[in-house]
Amino acid sequence: MPRIAYVDGRYVPLRQAAIHIEDRGYQFADGVYEVCAVVNGVILDMDAHLDRLDRSLHELRIRQPLERTALRVVMRETLRRNRIRHGIIYIQVTRGVARRDHPFPAASHPVVVMTARSVDFSRIIERAALGVPVITVPDQRWARRDIKSISLLPNVLAKQTAYEKGAYEAWLVDDDGHVTEGSSTNAWIVPTEGVLVTRPLGPDILAGVTRAGLVEVARKVGMRVEERTFTVTEAKKSREAFLSSTTNFAMPVVSVDGEPIGTGKPGSATRALLKGYWQRIMDETGVTASDIPGLAKL
Ligand code: PMP
Repeated sequence: MPRIAYVDGRYVPLRQAAIHIEDRGYQFADGVYEVCAVVNGVILDMDAHLDRLDRSLHELRIRQPLERTALRVVMRETLRRNRIRHGIIYIQVTRGVARRDHPFPAASHPVVVMTARSVDFSRIIERAALGVPVITVPDQRWARRDIKSISLLPNVLAKQTAYEKGAYEAWLVDDDGHVTEGSSTNAWIVPTEGVLVTRPLGPDILAGVTRAGLVEVARKVGMRVEERTFTVTEAKKSREAFLSSTTNFAMPVVSVDGEPIGTGKPGSATRALLKGYWQRIMDETGVTASDIPGLAKL
């Protein structure tokens, strides 16, 4: 079945989907995006993602391309046309097409693009059973990381460095030696039993939708969440560490720069949190533990 993309008002086969070469997203990375997970055909935390999209657009003074109701309809239709039950949907909004010139164009309309694909979440669950290595690299991004901009070059370079070193993710480190977040994930440590630490929201990090969901789950299962900065040294001495994102949920980190975290195996707090997070997904989507291989064993 050919994949279908939504491009500026039309549904087209992905192979033929194209945008104008003077789209400002292409020339200036002048745009924003969202990625939502889909489980059992339900878009997880849809309103939180659309709220963040609105905020990113507002911060960059890009006009709202579609009313929220219309955007929801297009998202659902994109999923339907691609027959996605479990997967992800990608939404991008750029400032639109105009002759190349830095200032905002007087007349252009924002261009919306959406794609969707299936994801086998049991693979993520399998990986979580083993945990992943991360490395640290200097954070070379701009000062407004709270905006989910499509300008991701420093993130791309960091992730590539991680992959070349056999790691799963790169944790980005500010000038003071504190971890900001991962190249495409938020960063967490468990310094002492029952306490989760993650960087406070602000311009230094993206306000992860998963991060917010995990804070909610953590409090429900009786863990304390401290939103504060932490250093690479503190991370390396912690009992556990993990990363979070829409496609990773809570993923145990078992080493940082080759140094084992805790026992070097996924920790019990991370496991409990992941289990609680999947319970929340099951409640939201009606998916059952037997629908996703590995979930019952979590
Ligand atoms: N930080 C960065 C830099 C990211 O790109 C992402 C994923 N888009 C996240 C954090 C995690 O955000 P979310 O949980 O909303 O996917």
